[in-house]
Amino acid sequence: MQTVNLPIRTEARTWDVIVVGGGTAGAIAAIAAARAGARTLVVEALGSLGGTGTNAQVTPLMRNVAAGVNLNRGLTDELKRRLCERGDGATDRSGNDNWFNPEGMKYVLERMLVEAGGEVLYHTHFVAPELEGGRVRAVVVHNKDGLVRLEAHTYIDATGDADLAVRAGAPFEAGEAESGLHQAMSLRFMLGGVDGERLCAFLARHGQPQESPRFMHFWMVWGKGSSLEPLFRRGVEEGLLLERDGDYFQGFSVPGQPGVISFNCPRLAAELNDGADAWTLSRAQVDGKEAIDRLLRFLRATFEGCENAFIASYAPMVGVRETRRIVGEYVLTLEDILHCKTFEDAVCRNHYPVDIHTPRGQKLYHERSGDLPYFKPDAFHEIPYRSLIPQGLSNVLVPGRCASATFEAQSAIRVQQNCHSMGEAAGLAAAWCAARGVGVREIDGVELREALRRQGANL
Ligand SMILES: Cc1cc2nc3c(=O)[nH]c(=O)nc-3n(C[C@H](O)[C@H](O)[C@H](O)COP(=O)(O)OP(=O)(O)OC[C@H]3O[C@@H](n4cnc5c(N)ncnc54)[C@H](O)[C@@H]3O)c2cc1C
Repeated sequence: MQTVNLPIRTEARTWDVIVVGGGTAGAIAAIAAARAGARTLVVEALGSLGGTGTNAQVTPLMRNVAAGVNLNRGLTDELKRRLCERGDGATDRSGNDNWFNPEGMKYVLERMLVEAGGEVLYHTHFVAPELEGGRVRAVVVHNKDGLVRLEAHTYIDATGDADLAVRAGAPFEAGEAESGLHQAMSLRFMLGGVDGERLCAFLARHGQPQESPRFMHFWMVWGKGSSLEPLFRRGVEEGLLLERDGDYFQGFSVPGQPGVISFNCPRLAAELNDGADAWTLSRAQVDGKEAIDRLLRFLRATFEGCENAFIASYAPMVGVRETRRIVGEYVLTLEDILHCKTFEDAVCRNHYPVDIHTPRGQKLYHERSGDLPYFKPDAFHEIPYRSLIPQGLSNVLVPGRCASATFEAQSAIRVQQNCHSMGEAAGLAAAWCAARGVGVREIDGVELREALRRQGANL
């Protein structure tokens, strides 16, 4: 028996910045780096940008507002504006401007990257770093060409799982401190052929009135007081649903896709917990589709307006809320959030609450009101640049859901607009590293914050 030894081909060109993972944080990071003049390449496993926001179909953006003002501005504002211009974004009557079409998002992000002069290598997986002390010299990736070595001055690990930083030896944490369990995963899907007017009327009769078919949001979680709970109880009794199908159920309309509802469920079986495990991710697709089939039959039988509905799409990516988090130069904590900690080197402001979907069926912690400073309507905490710097590595930045935070703190900062802001900061900082020939710790976080503010960030 002989194993074929695959040669590693070195790409002749080099880049200033390579972004590994063109998802929520990575796409924005690459746009920011390219706009700052860096020769930028994105390495992305799938065939479009946007990651969880597009390929896991996670729509809409969660609101992140304090005192009536959006806390994430900068590139996020431009993204929203461009989505709206195409009919792929929308603002509802309450002023919530976070509705978007994941398909439109794929296109707009790609346009913004290409227009900025950035490049993308799709259908390509990061495999391993080539190290020189605490510096990443190159990354080896795998695609149709086999194993390929790509070189840059600075790297941004936006894989959501810290694949690059962890394989380069950076310390990390994963899951809840005591149990090691991660947040529950979901497989999202889109239902087509929905009669929005009739569904709105049905939901209004069942205690969840809607603005219009364009802006729909309805939900049910066992024991949380949803007016739809009796319908789900009947669904379980009639054998259409399993008990776990009511652990989390939520639907949203999608701009640019009339007659389509995007579902933020089903939550996957509790034992399918680690989204950084390949077999778990595969089983999640199988388990998720079975659950979606139950929901389809239940919705057709129970929800008026859904009688002729069909599965428009299953999300190609499993919805993963939390896996590995780097241990960075600063680890953001629950205390920081609840006491509204600010930082000189802030790159992002957040008011989104601690929001933990436990694999045990109920949320651990999702208060939106209380006596602590964080619950005031004008309150926010900040995320420092140092939370993007992994310990032990000199030329890597890690924005997004795997930035440096405790399990509880990550559950608040992980929402998409914060990933955008962290990505924008990482992209600009990485471009500066390459232009100045320095490492990520040589970037002055206060100077970075000033520059981000000049670019429109709310800092
Ligand atoms: C079910 C669910 C519901 C949510 N609901 C909301 C919501 O309503 N609103 C909201 O704002 N947020 C929501 N969130 C949170 C938010 O969507 C995510 O935390 C955020 O999008 C993560 O962004 P990221 O950039 O860190 O990772 P991702 O967006 O997942 O990007 C990672 C990218 O890296 C690529 N990649 C990974 N590994 C490799 C590799 N080895 N090589 C090459 N490429 C790789 C992936 O393909 C992907 O494109 C939800 C999350 C989930 C899972």
